[in-house]
Amino acid sequence: MQALTPRHDQFRNRHIGPSAEETQAMLETIGVASLDELIDQTVPENIRDRKSLQVSSAISEYYYLQHLKGIAGRNRVFRSFVGMGYYGTITPSVILRNLFCNPGWYTQYTPYQAEIAQGRLESLLNFQTMVSDLTGMPVANASLLDEGTAAAEAMSMFYSHRNKRVKGEPANVFLVSDQVLPQTLAVLRTRAEPLDIEIQVSRVADFELNEDRVFGILLQYPGADGRVEDYREVTERARDKNITVTVAADLLSLTLLTPPGEWGADAVVGNTQRFGVPMGFGGPHAAYFATLDSYKRLIPGRIIGVSQDRHGNFALRMALQTREQHIRREKATSNICTAQALLANMAAMYACYHGAEGLTAIAKRTHHFTVLLANALQAAGYSLANESFFDTIHLDVAPEKAAQIRQRAETNGYNFYYPTEGGIRISFDETVATTDLQVICRIFDAPLDYQGAPLTEDGGVEGVEGRIAPALRRTSEFLTHPNFRSYRTETEMMRYLKRLENKDLSLVHSMIPLGSCTMKLNAATELIPVSWPEFADIHPFAPIEQAQGYKELFRELEHDLAEITGFTACSLQPNSGASGEYAGLMVIRAYHQHREEAHRNVALIPESAHGTNPASAVMAGMQVVVVKSDAAGNVDMEDLRAKAEANSDRLAALMITYPSTYGVFETGVVEMCELVHAHGGLVYMDGANMNAQVGLTSPGRIGADVCHLNLHKTFAIPHGGGGPGMGPICCNEKLAPFLPGHPLQDTGGQRATSAVSAAPWGSASILLISYAYIKMLGAEGLRQASMYAILNANYIKARVENHYDVLFTGENGRAAHELILDLRPFKSVMSAGDLAKRLIDYGFHAPTLSWPVAGTVMIEPTESESKDELDRFCDALLSIREEADAIASGAADAQDNVLVNAPHTVAELTADEWVHPYSRAQAAYPLPYLQQGFKFWPSVARVDDGYGDRNFVCTCPPIEEYV
Ligand SMILES: *Cc1c(COP(=O)(O)O)cnc(C)c1O
Repeated sequence: MQALTPRHDQFRNRHIGPSAEETQAMLETIGVASLDELIDQTVPENIRDRKSLQVSSAISEYYYLQHLKGIAGRNRVFRSFVGMGYYGTITPSVILRNLFCNPGWYTQYTPYQAEIAQGRLESLLNFQTMVSDLTGMPVANASLLDEGTAAAEAMSMFYSHRNKRVKGEPANVFLVSDQVLPQTLAVLRTRAEPLDIEIQVSRVADFELNEDRVFGILLQYPGADGRVEDYREVTERARDKNITVTVAADLLSLTLLTPPGEWGADAVVGNTQRFGVPMGFGGPHAAYFATLDSYKRLIPGRIIGVSQDRHGNFALRMALQTREQHIRREKATSNICTAQALLANMAAMYACYHGAEGLTAIAKRTHHFTVLLANALQAAGYSLANESFFDTIHLDVAPEKAAQIRQRAETNGYNFYYPTEGGIRISFDETVATTDLQVICRIFDAPLDYQGAPLTEDGGVEGVEGRIAPALRRTSEFLTHPNFRSYRTETEMMRYLKRLENKDLSLVHSMIPLGSCTMKLNAATELIPVSWPEFADIHPFAPIEQAQGYKELFRELEHDLAEITGFTACSLQPNSGASGEYAGLMVIRAYHQHREEAHRNVALIPESAHGTNPASAVMAGMQVVVVKSDAAGNVDMEDLRAKAEANSDRLAALMITYPSTYGVFETGVVEMCELVHAHGGLVYMDGANMNAQVGLTSPGRIGADVCHLNLHKTFAIPHGGGGPGMGPICCNEKLAPFLPGHPLQDTGGQRATSAVSAAPWGSASILLISYAYIKMLGAEGLRQASMYAILNANYIKARVENHYDVLFTGENGRAAHELILDLRPFKSVMSAGDLAKRLIDYGFHAPTLSWPVAGTVMIEPTESESKDELDRFCDALLSIREEADAIASGAADAQDNVLVNAPHTVAELTADEWVHPYSRAQAAYPLPYLQQGFKFWPSVARVDDGYGDRNFVCTCPPIEEYV
């Protein structure tokens, strides 16, 4: 409906940086008359789409929140005792307010620049330490996407490790306990199939440990039906036969149970959701991955390690890998890039807040409520499947009885899990209260004989025996580091959170011009509803009738994303861009298989591609053939043609990024798609650069068949310091039938491929953010966002191009939404790393460093930055150029100058002795704006990040040094 009087306050004007006046001035600097003219010169005519997007018209922020309240009202929040990997939890308000709802924590990127990321690096190291301590394993990473993918990562890591040097038939059987969660099993099956891994599911007692055929086993601890069993014996037998043991374990239970690390596991994986992170109808939450020291170089994802800055001070950094280089392209066994940093930070802070005693008390209380329920049910004549359990009981009753119980439970607002017709499972959690116990006992007609017996000091219940066998009780200490003991009061916790936040540069300080990462505004109105209980407190496997609000939202979002990409169908399941790539390629694979062309398994990938592209292709069982680029940075058409012809019979797909990772709208893209189609292949488009396409062109228009979208880039989900993200895929009618399904909810195409994520709609709760973004911008706002992203990049180009070489531009000399500056000509005086570190002294985060071209930086300003901010950034770049010139001319010292010593810390500047030939003011306040509140102080001096010449030791795992 058309508003009678449009509101003055339109979201578009809050989201897009430059005002009308500023736009005019910027266009003049660029040398074009209008924004339309600039776009005409930038986006090739043969792919231009001039139709208006068919999405609803823009609504104001105020009205959007009203509208969403209506949708929220259609979700019904039941008491959830479903378990199955997702539990009720209490997010401490101090963490909710100061971390989860705080842009100082959620707007950062992955900690590439260690000097301005020490806060979240410490928090992620806390996470690793927490996981390591609780699982009893020596090394842990800084999060993965979900428990299902973490288990799949372990499977594929051990498979490739075992068979790396083996000739002949590989051992390809992976034995999976029938106690493994069904969604984990689905994700394992998906991952196993293209790698020719055979999954065999059985009772652990029936495992046939044949060392010639079996490379690994997977146990669930406690089991899906709640059982707590002793797996020492099977573990020992497996290890004797060179078969690795992975355990999917519930972290809270490990406060009471002997951790798998103490009984010989090779890897322990799981979810940390119940450590203070709401269920959110499936996510986001942080999964964990812990393993033995001997596998540390194979661990998927990022690991934080202890290092030093150039003064020898303690400093943290990402270890064993730098940036995308850790994704090993064609040799990859994993494609993980964006993970779940923000949620890992929440879980780590939850552990800091509660400490070992608090977590143990929570676990004991949960356990004892479960015991009280079990006792009551047994006294009433029900028999339980297991005598030994932690928080979950399973009972089998007659199907009619189960139906009756379910009906009574739902009438009372309770959800349990019903795995079979007569099976009932109930899982308790931190939120359980005496009233819950009373209501549930009434539902079962089981008298509750507990009359408010007091909890004992250690969280038990007086006079009630626990149900964990003595042999399985944990005796070892955990979380002994001071970080897990010092922040128990709200005052201390609040200040700890703030102290760490203050060490990190985020979007609350200044622009983060990371090319390919699209660090745009994450608007408060988009974010606020994520913590509303109607969205946060729904279990992903709740009956869909209770999630009608979510359902409606998914339907609209799927429609809008399909419209924006020029496609007809969408899957919201993948939890990151890389996960989307993998999902999209699996869909292509299923398409070829369905047409009885399963032999099509070659993926053509340009050499400029992001590392995740070849890694995803390998995971989808494809053979990667690399296509060269020409001197202008475009895909070399001759090479593409030759390789498509040479592989014509086996061509599965071409993977391209558009505009290219070099920031160029290649004009040959339509021809590329046609060529690949002519050879029977399909085209996968990496949608990381959609911020230059939305409303102007689309993957569908260009001729691709499927693409992913990084909702955490183009569609305003904050990066959270390295996740969460969402990577939905959109596709045309050919591929729609194969979109991924899920074992526990109805989703996906008619011939759905099996799940790529543990949750049916991935990290459902943050889909709200992208939904809000689209609703509040509307068709015209979305198009303008792309136009302004291009304007801002070209403005920077115009301002700096006489001082830096801009690599690769389009046919009319225009950049797309990002641009690459070549630092190689300055090599003798300034490396790309020096520029990156010196920018910190100027109050800025570095652009993307040495990717996609070594020795360069890639700048992406996004539409959200104003002219003032762009000018400060350009002034900084120009000033740094002058500093480099001074070194070149001999005016500044070649060895001891502002560039190589950057960034400068307060400690260094205020030391009694100042030993450098330049002044303190030159070091810290090289431009006047820095005196006006724009100064950001790094908490450590330069940390070797793998690009510099100085090779500082980086220890990993850090745990021993750290504790
Ligand atoms: C960010 C990015 C990816 C990977 O996305 P994640 O969400 O980090 O997995 C893939 N391709 C390109 C070009 C990217 O910029």
